[in-house]
Amino acid sequence: MPPPVFRFAPSPNGYLHLGHAYSALLNADLARQAGGRLLLRIEDIDATRCRPEYEAAIYEDLRWLGMAWETPVRRQSEHFASYRAALDRLAAKGLIYPSFESRAEIARMVAERDANTPWPRDPDGASLYPGTAKRLSARERETLMASGAPYALRLDMAAALASAGDLDWTEEGAGPSGETGRVAAQPEAWGDVILARKDTPASYHLAVVLDDALQGVTDVVRGQDLFWATSVHRLLQRLLDLPAPRYRHHALLRDAAGAKLSKSTRATGLRELRVEGVTPGEVRRRIGL
Ligand code: GLU
Repeated sequence: MPPPVFRFAPSPNGYLHLGHAYSALLNADLARQAGGRLLLRIEDIDATRCRPEYEAAIYEDLRWLGMAWETPVRRQSEHFASYRAALDRLAAKGLIYPSFESRAEIARMVAERDANTPWPRDPDGASLYPGTAKRLSARERETLMASGAPYALRLDMAAALASAGDLDWTEEGAGPSGETGRVAAQPEAWGDVILARKDTPASYHLAVVLDDALQGVTDVVRGQDLFWATSVHRLLQRLLDLPAPRYRHHALLRDAAGAKLSKSTRATGLRELRVEGVTPGEVRRRIGL
């Protein structure tokens, strides 16, 4: 049996805090206990939010924590061509379509519908896309594309579900309501998710699924905030013939007031703690590892 492969996959859009330290060190501990490998992946497809200084800080902070990972580190921004190739495969199966509306237009459409009956929301609380661009005729679509109008690519969820059938995953941690063991995926809860954005030719869902497969990741260990995103990941894995890793979602660390830690809360930033003289050993104790 080849050794299991774990990965920590931060986005360089801010400095790491205690919550990241927990996720990173949990991955490192589990990999070590299992005699497995540990990868670090930089999820930097969003050029508007990611910055080189945050990426440099990730390496510095993780090294300070005592973490070691295999090199070279995969940086998603260097692999848009492979994400494009996957989009082409989904397009060939008729499973994606372009959507031209701006965020403001979508918000307006949703508000109009919301006025009558509450409009459904995804597990993150965002309104589902109303599907308007899916109903454009081929002619209308061509005209818009020829005019150079920017567009996102969305998954046709109904068609994807029909092609994929029922899906589940092995959860070794727990979901927000204690879901564990075999968990039934519910990708329909996300509606026609975006797989490539207007300004970025990929999305988190697409890139994460492709990279986990390409890097041979067997164990995805990450925060519970991504628990239900796994439904979309399982769907994309099925549509693209990719293997399913095992999943372990861990509880998110909270501050004294019970709020989720964020990249802008300086009190729990690893850099701030280091400057205050906190040791990596104390970090481990604070996060209970
Ligand atoms: N890049 C994602 C984040 O920083 C994590 C992705 C994952 O672990 O699947 O939230």
